[in-house]
Amino acid sequence: MRAPWGRMQGIRPNKPLYRWLDAGLSLTEALGKMQDTYGVSTTKLALLRQVAEHEYPLLTSLPPRAVSIYVGIPFCPSRCLYCSFPSHSLRELGQERQRFVSALLHEIAVVGGYLQQYEFSVDTVYVGGGTPTALAASDLACILRALQRELPRPWREFTVEAGRPETLTEEHLAVLTKAGVERISINPQTRQQKTLELIGRHHSYQDIKAAVARSRGQFRALNMDLILGLPGEGLAEVQASVEWVQNLRPENITLHMFSPKRASRFTGEQDDWQEMLPSAELAAHMVDATSESLRQAGYNPYYLYRQRNILGGQENVGWTLPGHACRYNTLMISERQHILGLGGGAVSKFINNDGTLVSQTNARDVRVYIKRVEQHVASKVRLLV
Ligand code: SF4
Repeated sequence: MRAPWGRMQGIRPNKPLYRWLDAGLSLTEALGKMQDTYGVSTTKLALLRQVAEHEYPLLTSLPPRAVSIYVGIPFCPSRCLYCSFPSHSLRELGQERQRFVSALLHEIAVVGGYLQQYEFSVDTVYVGGGTPTALAASDLACILRALQRELPRPWREFTVEAGRPETLTEEHLAVLTKAGVERISINPQTRQQKTLELIGRHHSYQDIKAAVARSRGQFRALNMDLILGLPGEGLAEVQASVEWVQNLRPENITLHMFSPKRASRFTGEQDDWQEMLPSAELAAHMVDATSESLRQAGYNPYYLYRQRNILGGQENVGWTLPGHACRYNTLMISERQHILGLGGGAVSKFINNDGTLVSQTNARDVRVYIKRVEQHVASKVRLLV
């Protein structure tokens, strides 16, 4: 089967495309270059065109001296089979939550002080992880208050992930709305109960439905993540999951293609799982069928990226109802604005004038993060000012 992205190795197909646009080529000419240089398929060129029509105007009108903020909360109720994110299960290291919150509050205060002093503005704020709502509601409230108190304002966008439905209590919802959070994410990954159990998520799809109902009308946008190609799932299961989610009408749906990561439990037990994964052909059918379904339901693709071992050489795509695209996602993938990462395992990216970047990563292990928070802050400040 022909590789959908041809010879392209990079995980950000938009980067070379936008460089050609920067050099003055029209979008059609730049897409032609993508085809000639990498042999990208016509289906993926059409996808890229739609994404570029949304992203490029945004990226060429960024406010000067602005940064976006990412906050990593490295705790989850349990660890998913495929997870390689910096996150600890509450059972394993939940007792570190208090000390983590204190370290993070310190990091927010110092970095916020430098941003104020050197007159940076903050474009978007994104609290992810992990699962931010795995913290006690009172701790989450402290963090959100600190962000509002210490960072320059106003912001263009404020997002908090609430990926696991069982963590989004009425108390958490009240904290989020009081703090002015505009966007949240509740992530089913699949509608199939058997798969949820297989991948180590201790919730049902009805829990997802209930969490969506609880949060309905309280935020400007809701995102829901799904993964195509999870072990044991075929085309019918994947289509059923996508149709179920699109009928809930979240403003955003992010379709990930399964991608085995080095640090995940999946990779450690690969021999047991490998034969439960779809072939490259089936992965392509899954993408085609679900993309068509989303288009029919009124969603448009607005950002995309690939991963190293992604099934069938496909991609992850963020879909949106008109007017609801998440700004942070485009900024984070495009690497054209500084991103300051605070908290466990958070990555900061500083963009040089020539477009190259320097990154700094906070420790992934929460115990090391707590111990080294001063060092993390100092490295960030050195790169920023
Ligand atoms: S919810 Fe996300 S961060 Fe948490 S364990 Fe699962 S994949 Fe990892």
